[in-house]
Amino acid sequence: MSIEMKSAPLVEKELESLRERCESLKSKGVTPSMKVLLVGENKASLIYTRNKKKFCEKFGADCEIINLSEEILESEFLAKVKEISERNDVHGCFVQLPLPKHLQHIDCGALISPEKDVDGFHVHNIGELFKGDPKSNGLMPCTPQGVVNLIEYYGNDLSGKNVVIIGRSLIVGKPLSLLLLNKNATVTVCHSRTKDLPEHTKRADIIVSAVGRPRFLTSDYLSKDKNQILVDVGINHDSEGKLCGDMDYENIKDKCAAITPVPGGVGPLTILSLAQNLLQAAENSL
Ligand code: NAD
Repeated sequence: MSIEMKSAPLVEKELESLRERCESLKSKGVTPSMKVLLVGENKASLIYTRNKKKFCEKFGADCEIINLSEEILESEFLAKVKEISERNDVHGCFVQLPLPKHLQHIDCGALISPEKDVDGFHVHNIGELFKGDPKSNGLMPCTPQGVVNLIEYYGNDLSGKNVVIIGRSLIVGKPLSLLLLNKNATVTVCHSRTKDLPEHTKRADIIVSAVGRPRFLTSDYLSKDKNQILVDVGINHDSEGKLCGDMDYENIKDKCAAITPVPGGVGPLTILSLAQNLLQAAENSL
């Protein structure tokens, strides 16, 4: 039997620490406050932002969702982000993606100052990640940080491990490769142009999949030794509309050492990382 790496115990443990840090900030007169800019009525975005707000309330931080019209002019949108993110009582701010078509060319990571960039998308924070100084107080990208936290929470030391990441997006694959490198892992990033993907995945100690294809990773990609750790970042819907990851969970769960479920695996850790970044931003402001 493999270990099912659920995120719930890690979230519960970290919530305790978030509550304590929030209390301590409040005792110093600072209530951590986050603003979420949501443009339009994208259904998934509405759910994500509400979940983020609910999570902040669990440990005592303020979170406000600011709804902007789908038709907002680019100039008005830019002015609004600037006005809100520059307020002294705001410690963290981000724009919920995706934006409507007419705003999609905007680099939202550049709009919010690095010290309030709780998504970790600003080039300054990406630079800090690139440098990898353990003493840096840069804000790290949320989903990749969640992946690292989950692997370590289940007692795995990343140092010297061969990690294969499938996917090279700016929000998952690329930043995750740097975080893992900073943990002394040996990292291979595979993508849609990689030749013979199974050749890479079969020799990995840890496989992280961030492809976005339902049940793409089957047992054909795994080592026969059943000793690999499998981390599924994918959040997909199959042809019947059922939520599933990139991994063919039911058919591979007994062919590995450990595996994350979908839902209940990596998903909730993105919000946890966002909350951790908010508190770090508030603490840095003191
Ligand atoms: P993306 O579409 O930006 O990137 C997908 C990557 O997969 C690309 O780099 C591409 O090269 C690679 N790829 C595509 N087909 C491939 C193939 N056949 N073989 C190898 N590589 C291939 O996606 P993304 O934004 O990184 O998201 C990936 C998945 O992770 C999605 O399901 C998304 O919903 C999910 N996701 C989850 C969270 C979370 O909080 N858990 C956060 C972000 C993304």
